[in-house]
Amino acid sequence: MTRTIVIDVENRPGELARIVNLFAARGVNIETLNVAAANDVNISTITVTTDADARTTEQLVRLVNKQVRVLAARVEENSMKTLYDTDIDRRALAGKTIAVIGYGSQGHAHANNLNDSGFHVVVGLREGSPSREKAREQGLPVRTAAEATRLADVVMMLVPDELAPAVYRDEIAPNLRPNASLAFAHGFAVHFKKVVPPQNVNVFMIAPKGPGHLVRSEYQRGGGVPCLVAVHQDRTGSARELALAYAAAIGGGRAGILETTFKEETETDLFGEQAVLCGGLTALITAGFETLVDAGYAPEMAYFECMHEMKLIVDLLYAGGMAAMRHSISNTAEYGDLTRGRRIITADTRAEMKRLLADIQSGRFADEWMAECEAGKPTFNRLEAEGLRHPIEEVGKRLRSMMPWLNNTVEAEAEHVVR
Ligand code: NAD
Ligand code: MG
Repeated sequence: MTRTIVIDVENRPGELARIVNLFAARGVNIETLNVAAANDVNISTITVTTDADARTTEQLVRLVNKQVRVLAARVEENSMKTLYDTDIDRRALAGKTIAVIGYGSQGHAHANNLNDSGFHVVVGLREGSPSREKAREQGLPVRTAAEATRLADVVMMLVPDELAPAVYRDEIAPNLRPNASLAFAHGFAVHFKKVVPPQNVNVFMIAPKGPGHLVRSEYQRGGGVPCLVAVHQDRTGSARELALAYAAAIGGGRAGILETTFKEETETDLFGEQAVLCGGLTALITAGFETLVDAGYAPEMAYFECMHEMKLIVDLLYAGGMAAMRHSISNTAEYGDLTRGRRIITADTRAEMKRLLADIQSGRFADEWMAECEAGKPTFNRLEAEGLRHPIEEVGKRLRSMMPWLNNTVEAEAEHVVR
């Protein structure tokens, strides 16, 4: 297990070296070290991970706390162990054929990264799929999903989650070789038993924590996107080694690979997108916009303040957490943040978050979503269309056309899909 030590220290020359020397003097190995600005510019937060045992770590933290320029040092529990390329033997995958089913966001990234890493890839796509040409242009062999599965030692399912059960039933299940491996980039289908693999295969997950284009571009730059890895079923005794080798081959080992379970990945992923990232955020932006417009302010102003400027804030959060964001905004903004945010996210909101989580954990959300798909997505389509007619979209389109530096390929793609 890796332990994380967080140290707040006065930002002065020589302090970092002094602290690192304490680790060395105690014979404690530093696995990773990160220094970031804290809330206050005069303070730095040093984050160190180590594989030292609990007692040694405690003793070290006590020692660090005694240093005059150290404000506070503490151990963070439960940090997940991070694996890198040097921890992983990619030979587990050597000579194996990997079928990548689907060539969308994740599919194109996995297939090309695996291929560039020297592994043997076959892309599985429907006859007549427009992606076939793209995969061929990139020099990848293309077959139907059924044919690719018959050839494969590892089958990676990268079709949309709601289609996975049907694709699995019709094309994968009848063709899976005994002792082969069935892999996913999200735990949804397996965890909620929408796909129930046979006993005679490995089942594991490699979930990059980023969209496919980033998985590809980071790899090409010589980097990678952090990946989650989990084993659901170990038939051959080598499922974990195969999953880690796969994660490394798509670039994950350059950034860091974290081990989790199908349950944890699936439930936290759904919760994040419902409560915070997608559902929470769009509802927050819309409510803020409507409040200003209803109070008589110009929709343009409401758009800038509640939607456009979100990116500035999110970029700061992404790069440096809450501390970096609060460091960059004005003191007035920060005072408003610190005192008003909790009036928006109230005890009621938190109680509702718990209910969302309970629906995810019980499988109720998954069943509802699958039933919605089987019925032809009536609610999904109605709500999506309603969203398109909202005034924030109309004013947004006008304002964005004044900002040609925005990446409008995203907008063009979205329009193509919905119209
Ligand atoms: P996507 O919609 O971008 O691509 C799906 C691909 O599946 C397309 O190429 C489509 O042509 C193909 N497809 C559809 N039906 C098929 C069939 N019958 N046979 C063969 N191919 C078929 O999907 P995505 O976003 O890449 O998601 C794939 C998986 O990756 C999902 O499990 C998702 O949860 C997971 N994931 C996605 C992201 C992300 O940011 N997009 C991140 C992590 C994990
Ligand atoms: Mg997610």
